[in-house]
Amino acid sequence: MASDDTSAISGRSLQRGDARASDWRYDCLDDAARLARRYLDGLRDRPVRAKAGLGELRAVLARPLTDDGEEPSVIVESLARDVDPGLVASGGPRYFGFVIGGAVPAAVAADWLVSAWDQNGGGFVASPALSVVEEVAAGWVRELLGVPASSGVGFVTGGQMANFTCLAAARHAVLRDASWDVEAHGLHGAPRVRVLAGEYAHVTVGVACRLLGLGQLLDVVPADGQGRMRADALRGALANGADTPTIVCAQAGEINTGAFDPFVDIARTCREHRAWLHIDGAFGLWAAASPRRRPLLAGAEQANSWATDGHKWLNVPYDCGIAIVADPPAHRAAMTSTQAYVPAHADDVPYGFDWTPEFSRRARGVTVYAALRQLGRHGLADLVDRCCDHAQLIAGRLAAEPGIEILNDVVLNQVLVRFGDDDALTNTVIERVQRDGVCWLAGSTFRGQSVMRISVVGWQTTPADAHRSADAIITAARTANG
Ligand SMILES: *Cc1c(COP(=O)(O)O)cnc(C)c1O
Repeated sequence: MASDDTSAISGRSLQRGDARASDWRYDCLDDAARLARRYLDGLRDRPVRAKAGLGELRAVLARPLTDDGEEPSVIVESLARDVDPGLVASGGPRYFGFVIGGAVPAAVAADWLVSAWDQNGGGFVASPALSVVEEVAAGWVRELLGVPASSGVGFVTGGQMANFTCLAAARHAVLRDASWDVEAHGLHGAPRVRVLAGEYAHVTVGVACRLLGLGQLLDVVPADGQGRMRADALRGALANGADTPTIVCAQAGEINTGAFDPFVDIARTCREHRAWLHIDGAFGLWAAASPRRRPLLAGAEQANSWATDGHKWLNVPYDCGIAIVADPPAHRAAMTSTQAYVPAHADDVPYGFDWTPEFSRRARGVTVYAALRQLGRHGLADLVDRCCDHAQLIAGRLAAEPGIEILNDVVLNQVLVRFGDDDALTNTVIERVQRDGVCWLAGSTFRGQSVMRISVVGWQTTPADAHRSADAIITAARTANG
């Protein structure tokens, strides 16, 4: 082919590309809104489980990538159609798997706007407005969770990064007190940092330690029958390790039982040994927002740091976690990104990158702001209490059935169920319930036994949903038995 032909072709395609890009409009947002409404309005009635399996989803979704691109509204329409059979109605009223919350309407809508505005939430200079929205949301979160008003707050991706951020601040502080600057020198030659955690600490606490170069959690503190760290065992463990920089990881809301560690005793012991006390309260910390459940957190306000999630019990869309540190200089020292091209800023000007591991970042706190405005103080308390009441309702219905045993004290929103005191039967019942599709819950193991785990964390669940779900579980148990 002659060279002038080639340039003619590329000239033509350049022109065509130009014409197309300048024609791009956002009409597809209307399609997205319509399709999102259709999905959300149907959440209550669709089977909770996904209908399509791995092979079917791959067959539909793995289309060839085009050379010339496609129309936005065609993409939105076919994407919504193609993923539909593989969606799990986890935002709906009868999804009780893992600990996965729904999303309140204002938070979903605000999340869309965050995408439309497409701001870099890393700092005030890049997004003055969203930085202030996050600052306001941080203030509300401090108040509702009952932590010191001066605490540093970082909106991160989830509980994992909230634990990471808090423990980075802890690492800074305990080594600072041992005259070691970990940000400057790292851990090479540093005094050993001792990290203790309860036997039932969430896996993400250990992962955070690993990422921070603190190694595996070697010091495991025994727990009681509900998975609560034993304060006497912590006292014993701390007694032999004087002058070692020490971090203690306690837990508000054990992932199986929902139990709370005895914070009053733990906080006193940590104070006596000058240990940093961190609390992983991914969902349990929100008990603070309910006057009825707040006593479960007695003593928790004395901790040095708290990790929690927005995307679980606060019911904002994925992803949103919150890292809170009572010592803002330690928090900032561990996280801040100072760069020559970012204007120096006074401490009171909001810069997300001072409090999170990210530099560029989504302004995740905006959904928290919207959810809290929709709920209000009473609405949030009511959300927490309703979920706990529904958990209790389901536990009560199941406990009344012969051969079904509730293994935990239902103090919060988590219920642990065992069938016929038998692993195989328990797993069979779980599978049947999942297949049936009225509700969805997962299996777990607790103290070496197979269990069904029910977690109620969504705003949409009603008492009728709780009854309908209990009926489905009881029916599955009866047929599995017979
Ligand atoms: C869910 C959970 C985490 C992890 O949070 P992600 O948001 O999933 O990263 C940590 N700790 C506890 C107790 C949890 O329930």
